[in-house]
Amino acid sequence: MQCPKCSEEDVMRRMERVGWLEKKFLPIFGFYPWECSGCRKRSMMKDRGEVRKRHTHPVPPSLLPH
Ligand SMILES: [Zn+2]
Repeated sequence: MQCPKCSEEDVMRRMERVGWLEKKFLPIFGFYPWECSGCRKRSMMKDRGEVRKRHTHPVPPSLLPH
């Protein structure tokens, strides 16, 4: 992802929502707070980022030996 402020690539990090504005209003419009580790500016983006992969096991847990 590119920083809209300094145009650096792959520097954006997902941040916690801070304050009632970000907690109440941003979800309505589908925005998520991001911070650039390059220029330290916060940006609101319509991108929730990478969702952690839940299925890391090649074998379903029910088939694993106990
Ligand atoms: Zn930046």
